[in-house]
Formats: sequence, C-alpha cells, structure tokens
Amino acid sequence: MRRHFHLLEHLTRRKLAILSVAATLALGTVTTVMVLQMRQSAWDQVSRTSLNLLEITESAFERNIELYDLSLQAVVEGLQNPRIEGIVPDLRHLILFDRSSTANGLGSILAVDAQGNVFMDSASQVPRRLRLDDCDFFRVHKERPDVGLYIGTPLRTQKDARLIIPFSRRLAYADGTFAGVVVGAMNVSYLDGLLRRLSIDPGSSVALFRTDGVMLARNPSDQKTIGRNIAGSAHFHHYLEHDAGQFVSTAKLDNVERFYSFSHVGSRPLIINVNVSVAAIQAIWRPKAVGISAVVLILCLGLTGLTLLLQRELERRAQAERVALDANKALAELAATDGLTGLPNRRHFETVFDHLQSQAERTGESLSLLLIDADQFKRYNDTYGHLAGDEVLRTIARCLKRQVSGPNEVACRIGGEEFGVLLLGSAGREVVFRAEHIRQAVARTQIPHSGQNSGFVTVSIGVARLTPSSGMTRTECFAAADAALYEAKRRGRNRVMVQLDQDGGITDSVGAV
Ligand code: GH3
Ligand code: MG
Ligand code: MG
Repeated sequence: MRRHFHLLEHLTRRKLAILSVAATLALGTVTTVMVLQMRQSAWDQVSRTSLNLLEITESAFERNIELYDLSLQAVVEGLQNPRIEGIVPDLRHLILFDRSSTANGLGSILAVDAQGNVFMDSASQVPRRLRLDDCDFFRVHKERPDVGLYIGTPLRTQKDARLIIPFSRRLAYADGTFAGVVVGAMNVSYLDGLLRRLSIDPGSSVALFRTDGVMLARNPSDQKTIGRNIAGSAHFHHYLEHDAGQFVSTAKLDNVERFYSFSHVGSRPLIINVNVSVAAIQAIWRPKAVGISAVVLILCLGLTGLTLLLQRELERRAQAERVALDANKALAELAATDGLTGLPNRRHFETVFDHLQSQAERTGESLSLLLIDADQFKRYNDTYGHLAGDEVLRTIARCLKRQVSGPNEVACRIGGEEFGVLLLGSAGREVVFRAEHIRQAVARTQIPHSGQNSGFVTVSIGVARLTPSSGMTRTECFAAADAALYEAKRRGRNRVMVQLDQDGGITDSVGAV
C-alpha cells in the first residue's frame, strides 16, 4: 500500500517534470523556428530589393552607354567615310557631331590622330590644342585593334577639373592600321546623379566599377573613391567568377560585414554592385526576435517555476500523508500490543485466531491453542512485590517469543498472568512437545519463587486442538483449553494438559510437579 503510494507519487512528479520539460522544449523549438523564419525572410527581402536595384541600375547604364557608343560610332563612321573629306569644314562638323547631341551627360567628343593630337572637337570648329597620347584609352586602342568601345580611367579635365570618364573607339585606315581615336567624356556627376535617384537605406551603397577594379560612380557619392582601384579587396574575385551573384564578406578597410549583390552590365567590362551591411539586415529581424525570445523565456521560466511549486506541493502532501499513515500504523500497532510485555494483546490474538482458523479449514491442517498461566502468581506478587511480578511476566513473554516462529505461529498476552500460543500445522504429539518445550523454557529461567513447590517460577499449560472436522468455535476452543489448564492446576501445576476428545475428557498429560 505504502510502496504503491510512493510509486504513484513518484510517477506523478516524474510526469509533471516530463510535461514541463516537453512544454519548454516545444516552446523553444517553435520560437527557434519562428526566429529562423524571421531571419530568413529579412535576408530574402534584402536580397530581392538588391536584385531589383541591380536590374534597374544595369538597364539604365546599359541604355546610356548604348547611346554614347552610338554617338561615338557615328563620328567614327563619318571620319572613315571618304566622301566627307571634300565637304566644307562647318558642314562636315555639323554632319559628324550631329547625333552626339542626343546623348545625356556626354561632354564634347574629340577626334585624335595617330600621334595623339586632337584634330576635331565637337565643341568648336577650331579644335583645342591638346595632345592625348599619354592617356590610357589612346594606348589601348593603339595596341589592341579589337577592343571596340573602351571605357577609360576617370580623369579630371584640364579646363574646369571636372571628373570625367572617357569613352573611346578606335579610328582605322582602310587597311586597318591605327589612325587615332574618337573619345567622348561622360561626367561622373551625371553617373552619380543616375545612382542618386535610387533610394538607398542607410548603411547600403550602389557602385559602378570596371572589371579591372577602377571605381566609376557610387551612391552615396564619394569623389575620393572615384578612379580608385578596388581590385585588391578580399572579395573582388567573386565579381570575376560569375556574371551575377550574391555573397557576404567583411571589408578590410572598415571591418564591416556586408551582403553584396552584383551584376555585370551586359557585355560591357563594367560591374554594378549593391551592398547592405549585415548589421542593417539584422536590425530588421533581431529586435522582434529578441522581444519574442524574451517573452518565451519568461513563459518557460514561469512554467518551470509553476512545475517546481506543484512538485513541492505534491511532495508536501505526500509527506503529510506518509506521516499520517505512519501515525495510523503506530496507533494500530499500539492498539494491538500489550504494553507490559510487547506481545500482541487479546484483541489481536482473537483476530489472528480467526484468520488461522479459516486458513486451517482451507488447507485441512489442524490448529492448536495453548493457554499458559503462571503458577501461584498472586503469592509471587505478595512475596516479591508487584514490580518483580511484572519483570517475571516480561521474562515469560521473552520465552514465548523465542518458542514461536513464522506466520503460522503467534504468542500473546491474554490478560493478567495468562498467555496464549497458536500453532497452525503442528499435529498430534508434536503439539504436546511444543507445549512441553514452553513449560521447560520457563522453568529453566529458575526465577526463585518461595511460594511454589519447585522453588522457581513455573507455568501450567492447557492445550486444545481444533481439527477441520471438529466444527468447534473460537469460544469452545478457548473453553476446552481453559478446562485443560484448570485440570493442570488441579493436578498440581507446572504441567501440560491436552484435551483431545469431543466430550471434554482430558486425555494427555505431560510435566512434573
Ligand atoms: P494459580 O496458580 O491457580 O494460577 O494461582 P494464581 O495466584 O496465579 O492465580 P490467581 O488468579 O489467584 O491470581 C492471579 C494474580 O496475578 C493476581 C494478580 O495480582 C496477578 N497479576 C495479574 N496481572 C498482573 C500484572 O500485570 N502484574 C503483576 N505483577 N501481577 C499481576
Ligand atoms: Mg490466572
Ligand atoms: Mg495463575
């Protein structure tokens, strides 16, 4: 019962703990999944926005460069057309630079001969006196006939120190030999203006640069970075490996981690990139994630606290129940025990009698009742005092305890100086011997008793045997044993008398007077 109770309590507490851990784990998992989804959607959002920006910027540049190129090609075609040679100079100027006026942001177009001297100028009938043989575009076209449209390194104009990007095409004689260059200038401020029209979050930037790393334009605008070569940066190789892509990298310059999206501008040797600092992306999802996590953490803590409280309450109740059970058990034991000798009392004895009797009826075994009475005990008390008498009763009780064993045998104090022993399973002479053993055990204690013939404390024992066929009740059995005991007293005490037959005749006697 008590073990069962313990198990139940243990199981309940275990279940509670498992439930609490499971709920905490479930909450934790759901929150983690939510936070991961928030993070993913923030990155997806930034990625989509970056790609959109790239697409818009790329098509804007592509269209503008296309227009520039058409203007340059018109001039090249015109200069290489033999029929233009004979036309009067102002008409020739008009024909050659007619289409160039359509291109936005394009400064004047210059035609440069094979030595680098300007020989035609869209801005004036009289070309400015300039020698451009040391410019990169001049050298490139001279060395590489197949370069097509070349976008040069940004430079400042001599006249007003404007930052420009030279766009150039090669001039060739009929046999293909180098005849010079047609070069137009695009204002960096115009490109910057194009980029500035894009709305960009703080911490982000859009830039246009050549595939060799030379920066051409940037938003937020920064004049110092124009013309600078960024090919040395740790992540530059990404731009050359693919036509377009996205990656995360930390810039060495400012040690800021950024998310880069890039794309090449058509087939031009140009790259546009959009970069957003990782911190800016985190700012989209982190505050919400931290808020949700904090709420869930508080919930989990609350849950754990509640579980602990419940467990403690359960434990407290179980403890109280254990105490009550212990107290009940102690009370029950006390109610069934004789205070002086510690043996079971008569009430308990009768309960055990009924129990053993029904067991005997079931198994067909016989049950024997031994009534044991101290001889001349009144005299003992009178001679040695009541306290000494109590001690003798305790000694007799110890003798009895030693003589019974197992669940089928019990000794008790019936009352006064009278004791009882129940033996289940012992039959015939064996019972008489067991009774005789008890009598001798008491006699062997050799407690002096001057009022006795033997000189020592002795007991007389009356035995009644209950066989399944006898049909005797408990009272009848007690009466039979009592009669045998009376007979033992009558025959001089310190002996065992057994009543066996149905009509009450005493048939057996063992012992010494
Ligand atoms: P008999 O041999 O015939 O049994 O004589 P007896 O004196 O033992 O029998 P009797 O019934 O005349 O006296 C029983 C005595 O047992 C009387 C009482 O003083 C004593 N007695 C009963 N209960 C206790 C007890 O708890 N302590 C002590 N010390 N004496 C007790
Ligand atoms: Mg008596
Ligand atoms: Mg007596």
